[in-house]
Amino acid sequence: MRKTIIAGNWKMNHTGEEGAAVLQSLAARVTAKEGMEVVVAPVFPYLASAVQIAAGSSVTISAQNMHWKDTGAYTGEVSPAMLVDIGVTHVIIGHSERREYFNETDETVNLKVKAALSHKLTPIVCCGESLEQRERGEMKVWIEGQIQQAFADVAAEDMTQVVIAYEPIWAIGTGRTATHEQAQEVCAIIRHKIGTLYDPSLADGISILYGGSVKGGNIAALTQCADIDGALVGGASLQADDFMDIIDHAV
Ligand code: 13P
Repeated sequence: MRKTIIAGNWKMNHTGEEGAAVLQSLAARVTAKEGMEVVVAPVFPYLASAVQIAAGSSVTISAQNMHWKDTGAYTGEVSPAMLVDIGVTHVIIGHSERREYFNETDETVNLKVKAALSHKLTPIVCCGESLEQRERGEMKVWIEGQIQQAFADVAAEDMTQVVIAYEPIWAIGTGRTATHEQAQEVCAIIRHKIGTLYDPSLADGISILYGGSVKGGNIAALTQCADIDGALVGGASLQADDFMDIIDHAV
């Protein structure tokens, strides 16, 4: 059975104090549910204290990005070895905001995916099309290309550790959620593509999340879909009550 994962991407939000308060509340309220994982991704400076706050609870901590090298002259970067060193277990890779504003490419996504896997970090690998691409009928080819390039040269045995997030760019922070039918269609395309790159039974075991204006009111319909195994949540993960609403209604 696939894991259901509800992951909160805090993006560049919350001071240490604000984030600690939200995380303390989540750590106290999230109960261990079989087959469900709750992940929170704060900004780099607070990751170590987030790991400590979440210790012993059912919440695990993710980074929002990383470099692919372990050490070196890469000013401003953070390595996978450093994330592992402080107890981080997940890392978001290839978010559309990183692709759009920070020159993240399919090549760097692939390097980061391979680095995460070699360090036993769980990569939450993001893909998604723009509204223009969707309207031009290019969504399927684009998504399949992103998946193929993200996992180039990744061994089948490592794929079992991977999580994929489908985040249509037009649904991020816009309040415009993809309908669950639209989200299901693309998550099925992703699973099928993994099946052709590896094999269908491997694809069947991978958790595929949807992201884009997820909230308590739409998570149930999304997670009831055959190929949607959870959510990558932005805005509605910032406050404990909103995020708990999603966690409680995920199926
Ligand atoms: P919103 O939930 O704010 O639309 O953000 C989605 C997202 O980008 C999560 O990574």
